[in-house]
Amino acid sequence: MAKPKIGIYGLTGCGGDQLMILNLENELLDLLRNVEIVAFQEASSVQQDEEVDIAFVEGSVSTELDLERLKDVRKRSRMLIAIGDCAIGGCVQAMRNQEMTMKEKMEEVYGKGEEYFKVLEPYGLSKYVNVDLELQGCPIETTEIRQVFLSLLHGDTPEIKDYPVCVECKLNEYQCLLVDKGMPCLGPIIAAGCNARCPGLGIDCVGCRGPIMNETNAAEELHTLLEKGYDERYIENRLRFFGANFEGILKLSKMLREKTGGARGK
Ligand code: SF4
Ligand code: SF4
Repeated sequence: MAKPKIGIYGLTGCGGDQLMILNLENELLDLLRNVEIVAFQEASSVQQDEEVDIAFVEGSVSTELDLERLKDVRKRSRMLIAIGDCAIGGCVQAMRNQEMTMKEKMEEVYGKGEEYFKVLEPYGLSKYVNVDLELQGCPIETTEIRQVFLSLLHGDTPEIKDYPVCVECKLNEYQCLLVDKGMPCLGPIIAAGCNARCPGLGIDCVGCRGPIMNETNAAEELHTLLEKGYDERYIENRLRFFGANFEGILKLSKMLREKTGGARGK
């Protein structure tokens, strides 16, 4: 039987998710025995623009070139998997979406009257094309990518975590940093999968895996953190750091901006 063809591509991002695939050091040779990798942007200068069974795409759509490349990859893949927060919700580079115009952002970085490349407000892939699966994380976890490869090679649908980091905290019997220590932990609204890495080290979750899909109750997190004494501006910035394009956080930001007359600052 022919091996499935895999392509691994990157748009605007740091390359961290592709690096996590390379970090599967002990499994890479086994993987190569079972799949044919025809493109791997971070690992090889050889890029074959051919049809693939599965395309893994990292990074947000932040330029017109990104969009062109994404549409091309979508056209020639049977299944497209978004890897990492940039490819899902735009991640860190989206945190100023809706707060400043693209022109204001570019002028702040490059200066007024300068020529610059054609940019778009950063968004995830699903704004533009159909995405078959999304793997959360900034970056993705090697444990999850391993499970995804195993499931797909067995013809199964990979399991996606739809419960919060708090569940992993409880399973590990960690003390709650939010309730017991009043730290600004985002664990209640962030997708599990990291085995509550930060609370396990006594550090509050900053939300790097992104909010739980379709269920994030950002308003309740705001309410809890306000009760703990944090101010609205601080909480909003914290929520937007990895989750600016998520619906619940967008709604909350809009509500807070209306309340404060739009003065959210830079
Ligand atoms: S420490 Fe954070 S992740 Fe853990 S249970 Fe408390 S709120 Fe949830
Ligand atoms: S910031 Fe939160 S989601 Fe990210 S690794 Fe730490 S505990 Fe997990």
